[in-house]
Amino acid sequence: MSKVIRRAKINDDVIVVGSGLAGLACALALAPKPVTVITKTPTLAGGSSLWAQGGIAAAIGPGDSPEQHALDTLLAGAGLCEPQPVRELTRDSATNLQWLLELGTPFDRVADGTVALAKEAAHRLPRVAHAGGDSTGLYLMRTLIDRVAGTPSITVMADTFAGDLLVHREQIDGLTAYSAKSGWTTLRSPNVVLATGGIGACWMHTTNPLDACGDGLAVAARAGAVLADLEFMQFHPTALAIENEGASMPLLTEALRGAGALLLDESGSRFMLYEHAAAELAPRDVVARAIHQRTIVGQQVYLDLRPVFAAGLDGSFPQAVAVAEKAGFDPRREPLPVVAAAHYHMGGIRTDSKGRTSLPGLWACGEVATTGVHGANRLASNSLLEALTYARRVADDIRHSPMLTEAGLASTPMLPAVPRDADQRDIETVVLETRALMSKHVGIQRSGEGLQTAASRLLELERKLGSSSRPNDSERLRKQGLVRLWGEARNRLLVARLVTHAALRREESRGAHCRSDFPAVRPEWQHRKALTVAELAEAH
Ligand SMILES: Cc1cc2nc3c(=O)[nH]c(=O)nc-3n(C[C@H](O)[C@H](O)[C@H](O)COP(=O)(O)OP(=O)(O)OC[C@H]3O[C@@H](n4cnc5c(N)ncnc54)[C@H](O)[C@@H]3O)c2cc1C
Repeated sequence: MSKVIRRAKINDDVIVVGSGLAGLACALALAPKPVTVITKTPTLAGGSSLWAQGGIAAAIGPGDSPEQHALDTLLAGAGLCEPQPVRELTRDSATNLQWLLELGTPFDRVADGTVALAKEAAHRLPRVAHAGGDSTGLYLMRTLIDRVAGTPSITVMADTFAGDLLVHREQIDGLTAYSAKSGWTTLRSPNVVLATGGIGACWMHTTNPLDACGDGLAVAARAGAVLADLEFMQFHPTALAIENEGASMPLLTEALRGAGALLLDESGSRFMLYEHAAAELAPRDVVARAIHQRTIVGQQVYLDLRPVFAAGLDGSFPQAVAVAEKAGFDPRREPLPVVAAAHYHMGGIRTDSKGRTSLPGLWACGEVATTGVHGANRLASNSLLEALTYARRVADDIRHSPMLTEAGLASTPMLPAVPRDADQRDIETVVLETRALMSKHVGIQRSGEGLQTAASRLLELERKLGSSSRPNDSERLRKQGLVRLWGEARNRLLVARLVTHAALRREESRGAHCRSDFPAVRPEWQHRKALTVAELAEAH
């Protein structure tokens, strides 16, 4: 083992990587079993979960049923959902929401005290529970973080970047982790849960936090885990279009359209009326494509919130109003310019109904996993539900699994690592080009030619980024934060290459995956596709 790995912690704890909804719910559900939660953010508050707006779907309203919720989910999934997991997800939604209520999550209520439900695109009934209007993620995460603080079985390692998994005799044996304060550490554990969130920051326009660059997906891929559905990236139709030089774009929640907000073109006309029978409430991919078709030819598209104000419903959207005002708009008087942006990854590490991956000892839950419930297109607000449902199932499975004893001694950290002469500007240039390539060629509208161009250039960028055969940790690398910067760039590139490969392979258009050279759904492609890093290597 390299000298720069400073200490090896022999650990009986379950290691949970990620402190979003999936990670914290899993850690809490495992209590009193000892858990170490690792998160790369400076505090527990981070990830997309904190930013979630619309809410969490649950079939609890009058006239609703798990069957109807399942039907909407299957329809949105464009033929690629796994029906059984979908039925189980919607069947358990009320119980899982109740768990959050019992933890103290302050969901909004109607006058009779029952949980208020909003209607979102492609849901046939109001079904989305929310908190603080459109500040659901904030209230949810506050509740979970408070609970974690009061749970002595949970140890938190914040500001700590998970490097690579340790694998010994095909069994997980822990992982390497880096913090600027203490350098590299080896954490030994036969039970690791990846809850590292999504990959939106692999694209230039994204609603995700910029550190949502696919670390967990890349880490699992390098360890040999089976991934699936990688080509399916959902683009949110309505990110506020502001000049932001690659920073995250503020989201204008779908629930605004559920409350009456309208999409207008430059002439003030409701173009969605001509695109889909459900107009503004059409499935996300349909709306995103309709917007994209206009913005790529230089037109501006607007979201008009004035009907929401006229109906007196603006009080439910404090975040949307605040972000618009912060950007210099007055949503009471003027429509807001919007653009479609990378938002949610349906694909991920393939798991079974218990959240087990193909590697013994490795579980995954939340956006980093693919469970089959979203198919080719996620139904709005089903992702928080999925993250919560599977986080609790993973905890249940680990609690009932025998602790494997083989692990803990012999594995060596995965190599390679950051080159000694790494340069900040070079790494940042590689990152920006990766994101630009993904937006240009692996975005809402794809073609075989564009995907080939992206695949070749991404491979060149990977070579340009370079790597060393041993983990370096000089004073300079540490001071400049280059170990993590380089680690994220490497992960982003691998994820970009995997997604591009999967998109090139699927020669049809379905759900969120749209190919101009294969514009139709093809029945022979109505199945999910797995991918491993070994297959990617073989292809080049
Ligand atoms: C703006 C926005 C609004 C949304 N609104 C909704 C909504 O209303 N309803 C809905 O259902 N879904 C919504 N989504 C999607 C939903 O929020 C996410 O899918 C969900 O929160 C993902 O939860 P998670 O726990 O899997 O990941 P996250 O919440 O993203 O958490 C990931 C965690 O992993 C950590 N991490 C990542 N890599 C590493 C590493 N290498 N080392 C250590 N730690 C690491 C991060 O620090 C973070 O703590 C929204 C998403 C966005 C971006």
